[in-house]
Amino acid sequence: MAKDFLANESFQSFLEELTQFGAIHGPTLTEDGVPAFTTIASSSDLRLDYRRTLIPPKKYLFPPRTPLLNFAPGCGYSRPVVATGEIILFGLHPCDLAAISYLDRVFTQDRPDPLYRARRNALTLIGLSCEADEFCFCGEMGTDVPVNFDIYLEKVEGGFCLRQGSPRGKTISSGLSSLSEGPETAAPLQTRMAKVADRIRKAAERQETFPKSPLWDDFADRCLSCGACSLCCPTCYCLDIREYGDLDGRTAQRIQEWDNCLFKSHGEIAGGYNFRKTRQERFRYRFIHKYLGFGPLRGVVSCVGCGRCREVCPVKIDLQELFQQED
Ligand code: SF4
Ligand code: SF4
Repeated sequence: MAKDFLANESFQSFLEELTQFGAIHGPTLTEDGVPAFTTIASSSDLRLDYRRTLIPPKKYLFPPRTPLLNFAPGCGYSRPVVATGEIILFGLHPCDLAAISYLDRVFTQDRPDPLYRARRNALTLIGLSCEADEFCFCGEMGTDVPVNFDIYLEKVEGGFCLRQGSPRGKTISSGLSSLSEGPETAAPLQTRMAKVADRIRKAAERQETFPKSPLWDDFADRCLSCGACSLCCPTCYCLDIREYGDLDGRTAQRIQEWDNCLFKSHGEIAGGYNFRKTRQERFRYRFIHKYLGFGPLRGVVSCVGCGRCREVCPVKIDLQELFQQED
């Protein structure tokens, strides 16, 4: 029999064995009680019953601020050294695994980003099964089936069933003495509903963008342009590149930063023009990008149903209502 069972009592040894493959990061609670992926020193730091972190795991691949170039007199421009130590990212739910799969397509396929690729190569993804709450809709998006993992742990009676999803996952798990022959094997993976994803796919095929819905006015009236929905989204990747001069007036840094398509400044260009002056235009842009895709990913839905935007929006805006209304 295959050694694909991790008993609850072997969990601490499992984590200790994993440290030989990289620093372990996983879901914890910050001092303010906010779920967050951070470094793990012991299994007691982990919150295996978490639903979703506020800031998604994209921060490991696409950090909020990335220095691209340094400038100093006499040296000109130089590239900062990027530290990419091996990291085991433990406890990713299927929606976050699907989100990383989407970011992989964005950053490594059409125009590969070497910084993203270096960080991605240093990351081992260990997934963990979860229970949906009132904000989740991964089942409706078809992202409740785990993809893109090196190792996946499915919670079962007395422990976890382990799946290997990549050569790296096989190498890691084959040497772990904390695994044993299990009382049960992992059940076949099946999505629950994928109803919304089907509806969106059909809308995308018909090139629908719901231009006449009264909900656009309602959303635009209520939205505070706070940008929280985009900030916490595991697949949003709007970015800006700025140069910051130091106070000495001699040195400077070029920084890549998260931007936000809900901000009015996002559509500003030289000459005082703006592609998307109104909130309604910004909403439509986000909606079309998120659900219908554009560019090389046209027709690819990037919402993974994690529920973060539903949970954080202070005025309870949920773009999915557009699809429900069209039924
Ligand atoms: S749009 Fe909302 S539910 Fe969908 S992936 Fe982004 S944060 Fe999650
Ligand atoms: S979180 Fe809500 S209020 Fe804030 S920008 Fe997004 S939709 Fe608007």
